[in-house]
Amino acid sequence: MKVTSAEFVKSAELPEHYPPPELPEIAFAGRSNVGKSSLINTLLNRKKLVKVSGTPGHTQLINFFTVNDALSFVDLPGYGYARVPDEIRERWGPMIETYLAERPTLRGLVCIMDVRRGVEDDDMMLIESAPLFAVQPVLVFTKADKLKRNALRKRRRELADRFGVRPDDVLLFSSKTGLGRKELWDRIAQLTGVES
Ligand code: GDP
Repeated sequence: MKVTSAEFVKSAELPEHYPPPELPEIAFAGRSNVGKSSLINTLLNRKKLVKVSGTPGHTQLINFFTVNDALSFVDLPGYGYARVPDEIRERWGPMIETYLAERPTLRGLVCIMDVRRGVEDDDMMLIESAPLFAVQPVLVFTKADKLKRNALRKRRRELADRFGVRPDDVLLFSSKTGLGRKELWDRIAQLTGVES
């Protein structure tokens, strides 16, 4: 995908503050510190459009971006960070659920996990909830540069078995090397109908 423009639109918590649902949308979710901001920046060929977190668990709003005036990207707040105050943690679930339920233009939910840690309970909860909102989950395992080639191949097979899919359907990604960027764009293009 040739990215000609990528702009931050706004941050919101409540549906009345979301931008109007005009473009096909892809949302990105994952545990705090998983590498979500880096992944979005890598997709968009931008260094710092999405702030790479110094303080995990700090981004507590839903951030909307417009890409090539054709697509909307949504950065959902990271979950699972132990040191987030209870009050913020309790707001996370309803904020995400409301977003998933109320966004008619949402075409895909990119669920980002760390290839070394694999799938954890809160990742699984999110992955399993996507179909309830008629949203297609896309499973992406990032920081793939941290595993050696053989370990990576083995991990991919394990993950494919766990989800009952083919190894090729488990997307491996690295923001450091760009591995998986094209495959993820192809998937996003397929889900949104934009040209890859
Ligand atoms: P977020 O909290 O999920 O948005 O995670 P960030 O994108 O802020 O990344 C968290 C940390 O992981 C940062 O120190 C990044 O430099 C690092 N990181 C993110 N993606 C990768 C990757 O693909 N490979 C490696 N080696 N490090 C990464």
